[in-house]
Formats: sequence, structure tokens, C-alpha cells
Amino acid sequence: MKQKIAVFPGSFDPITLGHIGIVEKALPLFDKIIVAIGENSGKNSLFSLDEKLKQVHTAFKKFPKVEVASYKGLTVDFCHHQKAEFILRGLRDVKDFEFEKSIAAMNAQLNNGIQSIFLMTQPEFAAINSSIVREILKNKGDASAFLPNEILKLITIK
Ligand code: ADP
Repeated sequence: MKQKIAVFPGSFDPITLGHIGIVEKALPLFDKIIVAIGENSGKNSLFSLDEKLKQVHTAFKKFPKVEVASYKGLTVDFCHHQKAEFILRGLRDVKDFEFEKSIAAMNAQLNNGIQSIFLMTQPEFAAINSSIVREILKNKGDASAFLPNEILKLITIK
């Protein structure tokens, strides 16, 4: 039988409990989930790609169905290359919904063989946002409510 493969694309700068919660919810739906760090030239990251790969690997090391990768270029092209028919995205609120709706529509135009699947965040993670977490980390605040401990331990801010 054909494997059900999903790509969970994002910046993951850094990966948070919200992202991890979405993958955990999606695990029963797919045979494999590829958490894929997009190397988006337009975005200024706090963490290098190597640091993000290490963080994401650490976050999912206990999940055999989860693979970690990075990619450049279009998400649909990366999915095609990975033989993935699904793009997984998380929704926190209507703002995410509006934003994700346009990305999904554009991706469907680019490749109609790839379906976007949306899962709602757990309520306790709905306020978690990578850009606020970056500000907390840069200002040496306590980010322990937003990131797993094993990831916090990896983080050193220059
Ligand atoms: P992008 O820059 O592509 O938005 P992110 O790393 O910010 O990448 O997010 C990747 C995906 O995770 C997106 O679908 C986003 O909506 C979702 N996401 C981000 N934070 C949360 C959260 N706290 N709970 C659920 N989903 C989230």
C-alpha cells in the first residue's frame, strides 16, 4: 500500500511546544512526517540552519515516524521530491487561517496532487509564537513554558 507521507514545513526559529503538539496530533494520520526547515532567503533567522536542525532532531528523536530535513525553493517541489502528498500546517486562530488559506490555494495551483491538511493547536499552545519566543530568548527571559527543556539546554544566545 502507498505510504501516506506529510511534510510539515516551517521556519522553526526556534521549534516550540506548539509545533511539536501539531506533529504529535498528526502522527496517527500518516506513515511518515517530514519536519522540513525552509531556508527562506527573505527571513532573518535568530538561529542558523545547523542549530535549527539540531533543535528539531532533538524534539523528535523519540518519534520513529518523524524525519527531519531542510529545503530551498518551493514547498510543493520539495513534497514532490519526497513523494509526499500532504502538507501539514497548524492553526492557532483566524489570522493563521486567513494566511494559510491563501498559501494552500496557491500550492494547489502549483501542484494539485498535494493536499494541505490543517490541525488546530491545543488551547494551551495557542498563544505560542516563534517571534515572541525569539524576543524572550534575546532578552534572556524565561522561555521554559514555550520550549521543551532539552531544546532550551541547546540554546546559547550570543
Ligand atoms: P512559517 O514561517 O512558515 O509560518 P513557523 O515555523 O512559524 O513557519 O510555523 C510552521 C507551522 O506551524 C505553521 O503552520 C504555523 O501556523 C504553525 N504554528 C506555529 N506556532 C504554532 C502553535 N503555537 N501552535 C500550532 N501551530 C503553530
